[in-house]
Amino acid sequence: MARYTGPVCRLCRRIGSKLTLKGDRCLTPKCALERRSSPPGQRTAQRRRRRVSDRGLQLLQKQKVRYSYGVLEGQFRRLFAQAERRPGVTGEILLELLERRLDNTTYRLGFADSRAQARQIVLHGHITLNGRKTNIPSCQIKPGDVIAWREASTKTEYFKRVAQQIQSKTIPSWLSLDIDKLSGRVLGLPTRSDIGAEFDEKSVVEYYSR
Ligand code: SF4
Repeated sequence: MARYTGPVCRLCRRIGSKLTLKGDRCLTPKCALERRSSPPGQRTAQRRRRRVSDRGLQLLQKQKVRYSYGVLEGQFRRLFAQAERRPGVTGEILLELLERRLDNTTYRLGFADSRAQARQIVLHGHITLNGRKTNIPSCQIKPGDVIAWREASTKTEYFKRVAQQIQSKTIPSWLSLDIDKLSGRVLGLPTRSDIGAEFDEKSVVEYYSR
């Protein structure tokens, strides 16, 4: 499936907030948003701020969530439709479904610096789900699942670097990590407070409810 392959810092500048799409670099002064916060493609003379409509603000919030998880529009809509069908608060369920993607879980376990990197690791077959090689980043994990490295992948330089750096990572409470084996277990479903990012999911729901 086609992916966005352009410069990801442009996405942050378009949204006007840090989406931390480049891992550790985002926390340094090298962050493009720190250096230039204006939206991309705007020349000085055109920079006069236009009033953004409510619809425009909702779109911005929707794109913020979508870019953060690296999901295409079609996939995002399908997840939204799935969230709508379930009882409960649609916006929170949507975030839960995004959070339960295998690439995101791999990222949350500290196996990658960013979701994009986690997606690559999964796509390249380095990750197993319940002992079976799984190369589908959108796969939904559930409580009790075990996410680990494929035996052959533990010999790579990348794996050795992850093993060294993992001590400094913070793992969310819905996951547990065996640092020696570098395997993770899903303890429960992520709640809204576990996700913690500054998303306005109500605006996303309003955007799709028109
Ligand atoms: Fe966004 Fe990270 Fe690029 Fe900064 S460095 S603009 S946070 S992707």
